[in-house]
Amino acid sequence: MASKDRLSDYEAKRDLSRSGEPDANRQASGGRPAFVIQRHDATTLHFDFRLQVGDALVSWSVPKGPSTDPSVRRLALRTEDHPLDYVDFEGGIPAEEYGGGTVVVWDTGTFDNVSDRSAAESLDAGHVRVWLHGEKLSGAYSLLRTNMSRDGDKEQWLLVKKDDEGADRRRKPAKTQPESVLSGKHNDDFRE
Ligand code: MN
Repeated sequence: MASKDRLSDYEAKRDLSRSGEPDANRQASGGRPAFVIQRHDATTLHFDFRLQVGDALVSWSVPKGPSTDPSVRRLALRTEDHPLDYVDFEGGIPAEEYGGGTVVVWDTGTFDNVSDRSAAESLDAGHVRVWLHGEKLSGAYSLLRTNMSRDGDKEQWLLVKKDDEGADRRRKPAKTQPESVLSGKHNDDFRE
């Protein structure tokens, strides 16, 4: 699907001239796809987990953030695709705008699709498997869809760490490492 169509929800929800967020200009380049997890201190604190699929970032909102413990399942609500330029966005979004609050790049890097299917087919099937190459997170994560959206509800998925060398039952990075991997900044550093 062309990025213009995939990003129509993103653009419809925002006034980009006021929010300071990226528009949809960047095109995908070759090489490994990117991922980003943004700590978004908005009406409620959550982590936005985004995977590059083609020329957009497929996105989930994870209220408690990712875990490194394979026995923990984290709720992940599918949200609108975001433009590729969002991959390094951090800053303040004015309080009166959609998503108003502060954003830091909590983790970022590249990922490998470790499913038998293509990333697009995995999304349709409701079972995504990726191997993350990040700074805070590494190794395989699964995303499993548990119920389809209906009446405007968001699709519910579960984000689960696979038991591999990136797993750690004691680390609690979503709690103990809140800072940006790009700037070292905390959300409150972007508060007006
Ligand atoms: Mn968000």
